[in-house]
Amino acid sequence: MRGFSICSPSSYRLNPITSMASGSGSLIWFRKGLRVHDNPALEYASKTSQFLYPVFVIDPHYMEPDPSTFSPGSSLAGVNRIRFLLESLKDLDSSLKKLGSRLLILKGEPSEVLVRCLQEWKVKRLCFEYDTNPYYQALDVKVKDYASSSGIEVFSPVSHTLFNSSDIIEKNGGKPPLSYQSFLKIAGVPSSAKSELVMSYSSLPPIGDVGNLGISEVPTLEELGYRDDEQAEWTPFRGGESEALNRLTKSLSDKAWVANFEKPKGDPSAFLKPATTVLSPYLKFGCLSSRYFYQCLQNIYKDVKKHTSPPVSLLGQLMWREFFYTTAFGTPNFDKMKGNRICKQIPWNEDHAMLAAWRDGKTGYPWIDAIMVQLRKWGWMHHLARHCVACFLTRGDLFIHWEQGRDVFERLLIDSDWAINNGNWMWLSCSSFFYQYNRIYSPISFGKKYDPDGKYIRHFLPVLKDMPKQYIYEPWTAPLSVQTKANCIVGKDYPKPMVLHDSASKECKRKMGETYALNKKMTGKVGDEDLRDLRRKFQKDDEHEESKIRNQRPRIN
Ligand code: FAD
Repeated sequence: MRGFSICSPSSYRLNPITSMASGSGSLIWFRKGLRVHDNPALEYASKTSQFLYPVFVIDPHYMEPDPSTFSPGSSLAGVNRIRFLLESLKDLDSSLKKLGSRLLILKGEPSEVLVRCLQEWKVKRLCFEYDTNPYYQALDVKVKDYASSSGIEVFSPVSHTLFNSSDIIEKNGGKPPLSYQSFLKIAGVPSSAKSELVMSYSSLPPIGDVGNLGISEVPTLEELGYRDDEQAEWTPFRGGESEALNRLTKSLSDKAWVANFEKPKGDPSAFLKPATTVLSPYLKFGCLSSRYFYQCLQNIYKDVKKHTSPPVSLLGQLMWREFFYTTAFGTPNFDKMKGNRICKQIPWNEDHAMLAAWRDGKTGYPWIDAIMVQLRKWGWMHHLARHCVACFLTRGDLFIHWEQGRDVFERLLIDSDWAINNGNWMWLSCSSFFYQYNRIYSPISFGKKYDPDGKYIRHFLPVLKDMPKQYIYEPWTAPLSVQTKANCIVGKDYPKPMVLHDSASKECKRKMGETYALNKKMTGKVGDEDLRDLRRKFQKDDEHEESKIRNQRPRIN
């Protein structure tokens, strides 16, 4: 099994540390877990320590501008998420300062910086939240190796999630449960459900002598090298623990809303007041403890007569998060099609122009384009909106690889989460977990059901703001006189639809049917050559269909 925690949540207790020399320094390494409340690593680090060094390492790879990418940001993250992270760090720093401490910001390759800190400060104890993400798993090995060879105690509790993925995999005979229901059955109730969580401190140990390791304050975006005008519209969601707790309190203040919460019901086009909590970016960075969220929900459920249950309830949403964390942790190559035993092998198309049109909100389908613009500007969209664009890119219309859509989400989402993002992309592309490839979201009628006037489209695609409502989802059907009056000529001011949904989706279904048959025949052992052959066959079929479709293109006035 991959990874282990030095202290699993079931065994995790904050015992007095009699064997440790008191007065020694502890280092708390913040990565995620950017909070004071319910932070076992912080709690342990601050106990019986004379000095506490709260460290965050800025990895230039993640934080510094990379002008070669398709959107403002670093090579790995869009600028909205970097800003969200900086706000979260600022907030954490300010909370620590109120407790007599502060955040020590260092820069460089994180494991090298950490080792330097441990050496320079003669730290006796290193504490950090356990992380199942492969990036952190690799990083942790390096740091733990150094620590154990130097006699430094390491404390790395599981507190980003409700459950320890390893425990669940072990209970399931060494493999992660692959259905939500079996996951729930095995997982049961988290051990933290009833434990008292430490929510605040009266003070923290002071910082010891930091020598000259190049410590700075939390930088601003400008100090990192971003320009003020980098982005025309910023995400309305501010980062940080304070904001997370405010948002949680507001979301949960309406107990009836919490009790009746039912997903996938809810309006994906609601943007002024989103239909869900928008707590995902706070959970992603650990500004909010999922265990605290869980306990708050349980308290509400106790107070009301009736409430919804998993998978549709709000608590059920948290359990989806746990489900994907566990499957991701227990599945080698979870983020790839190849070599991933739970992922169907599908001969997706390679088409950079189509991918770019989808990514840039230029498909010609206003519902799809508005969602992609919301992604770029806000870094967050409703779950069903994510469904629509992911389905459109993959098995619904364009037949493009889910890994390429995943990359775009990974970069632009402020809640971008390795396990959840990959899991949901496999789900939506019918590569794993969900297999009803005949159920396709219409890029026209689905959004119309919720928002017949097209308010959402008008907000995110202002070029269509004056398009009459009967054409807002299909502007190419508007007479030229209407387009002229609306100051939006399709093909000039706004793109023509890049595919005909009816025929494209029919084609996709056919391809999925043939692909599923191949996967069945080969009992999951589809090789590169098999995929190449099927792709060649699809190309031939496409060429044949192309000639037919050419004669039935939508009427563009
Ligand atoms: P709420 O409905 O209020 O739910 C509360 C919390 O439950 C969320 O904050 C989230 O942590 C968790 N949750 C909700 N739905 C899911 C789900 N389907 N899977 C796992 N956890 C869930 N979510 C991410 O956090 N990061 C991602 O990178 C991400 N990528 C996605 C990619 C695709 C293609 C799709 C279809 C969904 C993706 N999701 C992702 C899941 C989901 O859309 C978001 O978690 C949700 O929309 C966040 O909004 P919320 O906080 O208001 O959710």
